[in-house]
Amino acid sequence: MTAPRPRPEVMAIAAYVGGEHKLPGVNRVLKLSANEGPFGPPPGALKAAVKAAAEMNRYPDGGSIELRRAVGARHGIDPARIVCGTGSDELIQHICHIYGGPGTDIVMSMHGFTMYQIAGTYAGSRVLKAPERNLTTCVDEMLAAVTPETTIMFVANPNNPTGSLLPETEMLRLRAGLRDDILLVLDSAYAEYVEAADYDAGTRMVDAGLNTIMLRTFSKIYGLGGMRVGWGYGPAEVIDAINRVRGVFNVNLIAQAAAVAALAEEGWVETCKAHNTEWRAKLSAAMERLGIVAHPTEGNFILADFGTAERAKAADAFLRTRGVIVRAMGAYDLPHCLRMTVGTAEECGLVAEALAGFTATQHG
Ligand SMILES: *Cc1c(COP(=O)(O)O)cnc(C)c1O
Repeated sequence: MTAPRPRPEVMAIAAYVGGEHKLPGVNRVLKLSANEGPFGPPPGALKAAVKAAAEMNRYPDGGSIELRRAVGARHGIDPARIVCGTGSDELIQHICHIYGGPGTDIVMSMHGFTMYQIAGTYAGSRVLKAPERNLTTCVDEMLAAVTPETTIMFVANPNNPTGSLLPETEMLRLRAGLRDDILLVLDSAYAEYVEAADYDAGTRMVDAGLNTIMLRTFSKIYGLGGMRVGWGYGPAEVIDAINRVRGVFNVNLIAQAAAVAALAEEGWVETCKAHNTEWRAKLSAAMERLGIVAHPTEGNFILADFGTAERAKAADAFLRTRGVIVRAMGAYDLPHCLRMTVGTAEECGLVAEALAGFTATQHG
């Protein structure tokens, strides 16, 4: 019997494994595996979503006009050069299919976000990974990885899962070293959490006309991961190309209303950022006191280095017995590490306690 056959590159893809959220036999689970906002959705967003739900018989605005206007106002950028997607994941997919494809190369860093590899491979591109230095994207290695066939370069800044950051000067040096016909995708999913002074999420580079598209999301600091809303800001030609192929009604009615309201939520970003900065430092310090290396991070997560894959695995198993779910890093070639989201103050305390329990078993 014959059966439908997928293209071989599809079967070469290892499916993305999202953060788990259930543990058998555990009542209270701390889900710290997907870098979600710990405070629920902004109250105004929840209200707007409930209100919009009453109109779910209607198609949404296919152009996300009000949302693009709100994003533009918030960031001081032209709504005409913004495109919204069902999460920035959708936009990553389209970018790979539009500018990639068979015979092209896509460059990312060794421990970059795996969605680039999945989307790039699906498009038919070869995905090349440049070595990092100290778990940080290395501009020289990224440039050295470029081939004549390269059409796209992806950089997450801050990077997930390492949390490391490239300053604006380095990002400009990277762009300056790339051919003009290579699209630089600056994925700034964690931009709102950054404290470093010399940082640009990408707005300035896009405005400078440097063949760069910036991707942003409502899934992290805005607490709307379940709504699936992201956006891109880029050159008019790139936005036009994406608009030709994206789902006509990609961002649904409720999601658009929730995102507009989230942007209007007074003090939300400031409060969440301040909390994250405080507890990111406290949790990192607690890890270090226990002899666990906490990689420097500008995101809402910490990459914890346990030295060996065996020890990381043991820590993961121990944390699960305490109801704590973190992210194993085998898919990122970092099997000796675990990535943990910075949760509420209480959650951070419970994680520190659980880690102390784990290190006690190791010394005992
Ligand atoms: C979470 C994340 C995204 C956002 O994905 P959405 O599809 O918008 O939920 C994009 N890039 C990186 C690096 C991320 O970690």
